[in-house]
Amino acid sequence: MQSAAEPVIKDLVLVGGGHSHVAVLRRFGMRPMPGVRLTMICRETHTPYSGMLPGLVAGHYSFDEAHIDLGPLCRFAGARFYHDEAIALDLDSQSVQCRGRPPVKYDVLSINIGSTPRTADVAGATGNVVPVKPINQFMTHWEAMTDRVLARDNGVRIGVVGAGAGGVELLLAVQYRLRQELRARGRSDDHIAYALFCDSKEILPGHNARARRMFERVLRARGVQVFSGGAVVAVSPDCLVTANGIEHSVDEILWVTAAGAAPWLAASGLQVDAQGFIAVNDALQSLSHPGVFAAGDIASVQKHPRPKSGVFAVRQGPKLTDNLRRALSGRRLRPFRPQRRFLSLISTGDKYAVASRGNWALEGRLMWRWKDHIDRRFMRRYNELPEMARAPRPAVASGVADAAAIREISAIAMRCGGCGAKVGSTVLERALGQLQPFSRPDILIGLDAPDDAAVAAVPPGKVMLHSVDYFRAFIEDPYVFGQIAANHSLGDIFAMGGEPQSALAIVTVPFGLEAKVEDLLSQLMAGALKVLNEAETALAGGHTSEGAELGMGFAVNGLADRARLLRKGGMRPGDRLVLTKPLGTGTLLAADMRRKAKGRWIDAALASMVQSNRAAAPCVHQYGATACTDVTGFGLLGHLVEMTRPSGVDVELMLSALPFLDGALDTVRLGILSSLQPQNVRLRRAVRDLSNFARDERLPLIFDPQTAGGLLASIPSDRADACLAALRQLGYGHAAIIGTVRPLSDQLEPIVLRG
Ligand SMILES: Cc1cc2nc3c(=O)[nH]c(=O)nc-3n(C[C@H](O)[C@H](O)[C@H](O)COP(=O)(O)OP(=O)(O)OC[C@H]3O[C@@H](n4cnc5c(N)ncnc54)[C@H](O)[C@@H]3O)c2cc1C
Repeated sequence: MQSAAEPVIKDLVLVGGGHSHVAVLRRFGMRPMPGVRLTMICRETHTPYSGMLPGLVAGHYSFDEAHIDLGPLCRFAGARFYHDEAIALDLDSQSVQCRGRPPVKYDVLSINIGSTPRTADVAGATGNVVPVKPINQFMTHWEAMTDRVLARDNGVRIGVVGAGAGGVELLLAVQYRLRQELRARGRSDDHIAYALFCDSKEILPGHNARARRMFERVLRARGVQVFSGGAVVAVSPDCLVTANGIEHSVDEILWVTAAGAAPWLAASGLQVDAQGFIAVNDALQSLSHPGVFAAGDIASVQKHPRPKSGVFAVRQGPKLTDNLRRALSGRRLRPFRPQRRFLSLISTGDKYAVASRGNWALEGRLMWRWKDHIDRRFMRRYNELPEMARAPRPAVASGVADAAAIREISAIAMRCGGCGAKVGSTVLERALGQLQPFSRPDILIGLDAPDDAAVAAVPPGKVMLHSVDYFRAFIEDPYVFGQIAANHSLGDIFAMGGEPQSALAIVTVPFGLEAKVEDLLSQLMAGALKVLNEAETALAGGHTSEGAELGMGFAVNGLADRARLLRKGGMRPGDRLVLTKPLGTGTLLAADMRRKAKGRWIDAALASMVQSNRAAAPCVHQYGATACTDVTGFGLLGHLVEMTRPSGVDVELMLSALPFLDGALDTVRLGILSSLQPQNVRLRRAVRDLSNFARDERLPLIFDPQTAGGLLASIPSDRADACLAALRQLGYGHAAIIGTVRPLSDQLEPIVLRG
């Protein structure tokens, strides 16, 4: 979490979680640079290691074995992880434009986004072929393709375009896997034909003749037809046309041709080479923009051109890290010369490989074992991270602060508390200046004409609801944190059957340089406003102060018809209990802090926390909800007890029906629980015969504190199934009926658990 202990002086933004950037993250984790804030923007949370892609396709590796999880790695590095896609650069304002968030500012930028096979140059290719990259998209296509091929028993023809190492390896891996799948079903693969197309005279251009001969032999033995010396010039869904005019019918086309660069780089004004790759010097620094660095496939090192290969991206990692540190502290960069020859270990799909380097080549099962050993060792560096004890160091010690920054930091240390801790009005104005709060006629005085207080009208016949919530930041991404804080705060109003009207923001930002505070605030507020605006809620004012760490909350007002208020009391025996969102945010966020949660679990948990209860509330109302609340800090059980008490009923809760977020049971199994859990567990006395479930791994999740949790509603039994179906239609895919309301018994404990 960002704290005031080490004020941010410079922002280093990494775009793309390629092979070089994972090394930068690891190295910054081992040796942080005080005063430097790292931000990783990546389209994928689990970044693929391409050396293992053929093994993944062949079925030798699982998804986790072949991917680096950027979530824990960024935590290790102390980096903010933004799960997003960069789509442009504004080189003048030094910011990265992303698909799903406000621009991200940088002082130093590094780009390691890899390449994708070019499809645009060949008529009909885009849309009709499956490019091998982005790999995650390829894997989705590959699974669908496998299902299609397995469903057929008449002739299928699979064409792979591109016979470099990647294309050859991929074809052989595809063939091996399909053969295994068919064998497992008692079938042969005789009906599948494979063809390899390349524009070069021979396969594997770039490799030595011995290696080529070995692969030609393997391809012949495996019945693969090779069409070399003629580029594919046109594609239709079931046909490839080569330069000599021959049409080849194909059912599936995999595209593994020469690497192409993302067009937005050149469009942003960065100097690029003839193919659109970022032109860099031998220190990996952009030739046109000294604050921008690039590595891996996307970089074109002008002095030392090399083929696009993961080997170079990996080797550039340490050099890039060193030069980024140097750029951040204003020191001279160190040039380096990449090696000319490098070892390639190219697999044949069946745990057999060919090693090729310079003029020699060797083949055999031992080569595969060697490749497997090297690849697994590489992955361990990133998926098994050491524990680091870190003592904060002053930012000035790292040399990143210039004289002006040092003056500003000294002034920060002298700042007063009280009103002096308020963020300056110019910073606030600039941060909020770009944002457009939702405007409502019933907000008579709001942010558009600021006064000492906001003024809201309460329409006749309506009552006003008030609620407040506040959080310390629990994730590093201020834009997403802002969304969750706002969404959570609105939850109480929806749970009461109301419509939020206005919100006042309460924000604490860590002390820091004005520019950094402004940037943080604008990201945070942009996230919050996205949610408030979608909920047609006016941001009517707020209070922002500097403090030890980032925090945000909202005082929210809502309007409701008195007669339609949904209360916690009112449950009736026979009602069914409907929960709209899965449980587990507490344990998952705790595990995330300890780097024990998988990135995809946190992605799903954040998506759930961002999902609004706005559509769920009228839905449960429509199906006759007799009582309702939102599940938050007290956990499911705590909030349930808050409902049973005023309702004067007991409840039978079905453990087997509870919806859980992915990974929540895994983190509970690891013994990782939220720090709030012990307080919630005190309510165990509300559960009858709890000891019957003492060893049940699901039990802790009924006490798990939720952030922006779902609604818990009591619905008449004859309408509960229809209500559930309607909720699912509205996008609450995990909504579930989790129990039944029973008449009040003479027992002390109102909750009866069932397995
Ligand atoms: C089938 C196949 C097998 C291969 N096998 C090998 C091998 O064994 N050894 C070898 O050395 N090379 C191999 N290669 C080549 C290798 O894939 C590339 O050279 C290598 O992946 C380049 O690494 P990189 O770090 O530049 O980028 P990548 O590894 O491609 O990583 C790019 C990252 O950036 C992210 N990203 C992309 N665009 C954006 C964006 N706009 N915004 C945010 N994030 C973005 C991606 O999600 C990804 O995380 C193989 C290639 C193929 C096709």
